Amino acid sequence: MNIFITGVSRGIGLGLTKKAIAHGHRVLGIARLPEESIELTELRHQYPEKLEILKLDLRDGEASKKIQASIAHFSQFDLLINNAGIYEKDESKEEFMRSFEVNSYLPYMVTQCLLSKLQKASQPKAVHISSMMGSIADNTSGGFYAYRSSKAALNMINKSLSINHPWLATIVVHPGWVKTRMGGEGAPTSVEDSCTGLWNVIEKIEIKDSGRFIDYHGRELPW
Ligand code: NAP
Repeated sequence: MNIFITGVSRGIGLGLTKKAIAHGHRVLGIARLPEESIELTELRHQYPEKLEILKLDLRDGEASKKIQASIAHFSQFDLLINNAGIYEKDESKEEFMRSFEVNSYLPYMVTQCLLSKLQKASQPKAVHISSMMGSIADNTSGGFYAYRSSKAALNMINKSLSINHPWLATIVVHPGWVKTRMGGEGAPTSVEDSCTGLWNVIEKIEIKDSGRFIDYHGRELPW
């Protein structure tokens, strides 16, 4: 399979890249500063034919064009993983806007860029890494205005994608509370456990699952 993944420098994106390569797939990954990720650099040296990196800040005004150019030599993409995300602590207008840009709009933009290549695959899938924090039904503690609302928007974007593109199995997934720079040291789930679960979920997705909001164990989540 050819797989497109955003945010592969560290955390869950790096973990999913390792899973994909271990399963024999070819990955085109997006990283802002790939040279600063030791693990990603090692992975590229180990699997030069399996891992290609596009050095790109997705907020770059030319991102869409740069993505189109980088995928031109691929005949198709079987799987898109929109993983890159940010958590902003403050709730200023700038942070709200940045959260919506990175967590909601950019996954939509990346999906639009990939659609024609996904359409060429026999069982195309799009997986957007969302969060339980984006669940309105599950919100019993409040706070996290920018992050929660930007992930709720991502969930809605996925639902529309599932309706507008009935040939694409597109889902939103909560990866667990994971020990990454975003999740922090106190998180109960390792990157390895989260990515093992996510990979199992990804492998099983079918068209009938399109539009669903599930966790890394494959369990249905409340909207
Ligand atoms: P992380 O360690 O902070 O990694 C975030 C990744 O996103 C990094 O690779 C980062 O690149 C990339 N990124 C952010 N903004 C970008 C941009 N403008 N352009 C390109 N890449 C960008 O976080 P993580 O825990 O692995 O999070 C991955 C996803 O899981 C996110 O969508 C997050 O919201 C979601 N999630 C995480 C948890 C958790 O507990 N960790 C829980 C629920 C959902 P740089 O290295 O260049 O910064």
